[in-house]
Amino acid sequence: MSYSSTGILCRKCLDTELPEGELIRYLDQYVLSLPEDIRSSDETYRRRLSACSECEHRMQATCSLCGCYCQARAAKRKLRCPIPKSPRWTEEESNSNPECDTK
Ligand code: SF4
Repeated sequence: MSYSSTGILCRKCLDTELPEGELIRYLDQYVLSLPEDIRSSDETYRRRLSACSECEHRMQATCSLCGCYCQARAAKRKLRCPIPKSPRWTEEESNSNPECDTK
């Protein structure tokens, strides 16, 4: 099944068209498709989703503050929870050795 010919997916349409289990599977695939250098570690990802699961701003699979799917946001190491003054989770520190970093 194809949801987009452009690679741009409409969250509202996906919510309408996909049963919840399909949506979760789609998001799992999306997370796994992220390049490793931008993807959160498994531990960080689980910790972030645990925080989202207990958050009053979560509306089913979506964060009501930023509009992102919680899974998609939590999977990106450089993103943080959008609560302005006291985010429930923050950017993941890089594990790279600075002496080996040539950038
Ligand atoms: S990203 Fe932050 S504000 Fe949004 S649902 Fe998760 S913990 Fe809550």
